[in-house]
Amino acid sequence: MTKSVHTQLYIDGKWQDSLSGEEFAIYNPARPNELVGYAANADSRDVDLACDAASAAFSEWSELSYQKRADYLTKVADYLVEDAQELENRINLFTREHGKILREASIEMNRFGDRFFLCANYAQKLAEEENLAGPPFDTILTHQARGPAALVVPWNWPISILGAKLPQALIAGNTVVIKPSQNSCLATSLTIGRLAEVLPKGVVNLLTGSASRIGDQLLVHKKIKQINFTGSVPVGRHVMRQAAENLVPATLELGGNDAGLILQDANLDGAAIQRIYLASFMSTGQICMALKRIYVHRSRYDELVAGLCKIADKQVIGDGLLPETTMGPINNHNQYKTVMKMIDDAKAAGADVRELGQVPDQELYEKGFFQKPTIVLNPDIELSIVKEEQFGPAVPIVPFDTEEEAIALANNSEFGLCSSVWTEDRERALNIARKIEAGYTYLNGHGPLAQDARAPFGGFKSSGIGRNLGFDGIRAFQETHAISAPQGWLF
Ligand code: NAP
Ligand code: MG
Repeated sequence: MTKSVHTQLYIDGKWQDSLSGEEFAIYNPARPNELVGYAANADSRDVDLACDAASAAFSEWSELSYQKRADYLTKVADYLVEDAQELENRINLFTREHGKILREASIEMNRFGDRFFLCANYAQKLAEEENLAGPPFDTILTHQARGPAALVVPWNWPISILGAKLPQALIAGNTVVIKPSQNSCLATSLTIGRLAEVLPKGVVNLLTGSASRIGDQLLVHKKIKQINFTGSVPVGRHVMRQAAENLVPATLELGGNDAGLILQDANLDGAAIQRIYLASFMSTGQICMALKRIYVHRSRYDELVAGLCKIADKQVIGDGLLPETTMGPINNHNQYKTVMKMIDDAKAAGADVRELGQVPDQELYEKGFFQKPTIVLNPDIELSIVKEEQFGPAVPIVPFDTEEEAIALANNSEFGLCSSVWTEDRERALNIARKIEAGYTYLNGHGPLAQDARAPFGGFKSSGIGRNLGFDGIRAFQETHAISAPQGWLF
């Protein structure tokens, strides 16, 4: 059996135990009795140390030129993948603690550096100031970093999500304190510590520990000048209330219940059905921008159902470390219970629920937090599997008759993260996309495989406030500062 890992806190340029010396244990969701490792369990004293370190490092870091910070980001991206054995160990650990299959763990780790390169490429554009010539005044618009930022990430995609806020915060000139989720913090901690080693001390600090012990202490810490949170809607609401304490801005990336509209003329060839399948079931469906409600024109309903069921039935469900596995377990017991309740409620209401896929090891399947890819056919749209975010391997398919009805169904949601339109008609696709209340609409694709990393990302309605990624996602970490004088004085 592999040796269990111990991860520490990373504060002020050093790995260190929590001051209490306490740790918490992390188990493998595919084999819930198997201990994967221990992480340092911080308390409020460690929060003070991390915030003090981020604050002390701020002026020097923020005064560097954009190009100097971009050079650091490029160094980070290279260093993250420099040691092939170290990288492979981190990827394996990620699968063991998280459940996601090795291939996905590998993509997530390997693509992390891309986000640093992307941000580094904005150095010149970020340095540009806007000059507003008079009359009546000459004004320069500049941008300044706010100060230490608290970055809070969820368990589902901890590395990718960090990639949507960490390089952006850094290139903007902020220092950071990061709190990953207890449900996936070992490989994340090792990754954060590794990249922090390349940076001046105090620029990146890491806290692990229970949200009830350190969450609020971090959010309301006097030295934190900005919060960037990704997670659930209820915790997002709480974060916003906490941000009010010191009146700091909070960017919130919250849940989603993305609709995909598959029109009468959609191309549903093998490749398209495969894209639709992956949009719903990649990472066992635990993706904020997963396709979580499929609406299909009635004339294409049977074809779509048959195509998706065929792909779902070929999936191999098991331990993500095994090469034959194509879908791993749900990450944690709470999430498992949430998804199973939605599926059970759909069954109890008489919906046609298809649980598909191959299970080579039935004993493992019954002990771990597994659920086969599940397709719920034409359920009542008031059922929770349609109305709420399932965040797991189950998707409802609902037929519609008219385009207007489809748009209304998509918008009939408290969420507005992403959406998709599937059609061969470009004008129609754009016309529908412009009527959907969502931060992102993919055409003939959906989810991470269709995502342009240069585009700002975020939600309408309860899916959040503000944007990560893209140029906007960097400016979100800065204040605009106007400097003006009587006309003729500056220009
Ligand atoms: P969560 O329960 O809201 O937790 C998110 C993070 O917040 C975790 O690190 C959690 O720590 C921490 N946290 C909880 N209470 C806190 C507090 N009082 N103060 C500070 N931090 C606190 O969400 P989750 O279950 O991890 O993630 C799943 C949700 O995230 C889904 O709804 C999904 O849609 C959403 N999500 C959204 C996006 C997006 O970009 N819009 C992306 C991915 C996921 P602990 O886990 O240690 O308690
Ligand atoms: Mg749903």
